[in-house]
Amino acid sequence: MTKKGAMKEHCLNLLNERGVQVEDIAELVYFLQEKYVDDLSMEDCLANVDKVISKREIQNAILTGVTLDKAAEQGLIEQPLLDIILEDEGLYGVDEVVALSIVNVYGSIGFTNYGYIDKLKPGILEKLNDKSSGACHTFLDDIVGAIAASASSRLAHAEAHEEEEGS
Ligand code: MG
Repeated sequence: MTKKGAMKEHCLNLLNERGVQVEDIAELVYFLQEKYVDDLSMEDCLANVDKVISKREIQNAILTGVTLDKAAEQGLIEQPLLDIILEDEGLYGVDEVVALSIVNVYGSIGFTNYGYIDKLKPGILEKLNDKSSGACHTFLDDIVGAIAASASSRLAHAEAHEEEEGS
């Protein structure tokens, strides 16, 4: 396997280990785009999620965020940062900044989608936000939302091109 492929594989494994399947992210994309794209299929959503996760910038964000979540769970971060991350403190916006580094790659539609999905927290995002599990997903929830927003934005752009070309 190439080094590039190995990094993507590693990120997919990390997401699975933290309870997120690519299908969960594809469902968020479906949720965001079904009103706008005719005959939207889950295959299209999955394909766009896969493209987003294939990008190195996005892999770096996954790696950073999940590593911090896991370190916090294991108590491996110094105070006061440990409690801030574990409690997902309201004024701690660094998790969102990591997520925006994903959305940034895909332009302004990505920002709008990210804000929308972060407010509604459908599907897997609701699960990740459930603090009763004892797991720490302070970074992961924003990353998953950002991947879905970016994949939606990719899908919307592809659709716009098709319309221009009349196909
Ligand atoms: Mg968060």
